[in-house]
Amino acid sequence: MLPIEFYRNIPAKQCCQCGEEMNEMHECYFNECERCLSKAEE
Ligand SMILES: [Zn+2]
Repeated sequence: MLPIEFYRNIPAKQCCQCGEEMNEMHECYFNECERCLSKAEE
């Protein structure tokens, strides 16, 4: 497998709660999107 193929196969990061794709530019060490994180804090 070519290295470039490997990188293409990395799936978009998704929220483990709602399955929504998360923005990588948001420095995120969580597996949940902002919406679910804010819900969890309530
Ligand atoms: Zn979510």
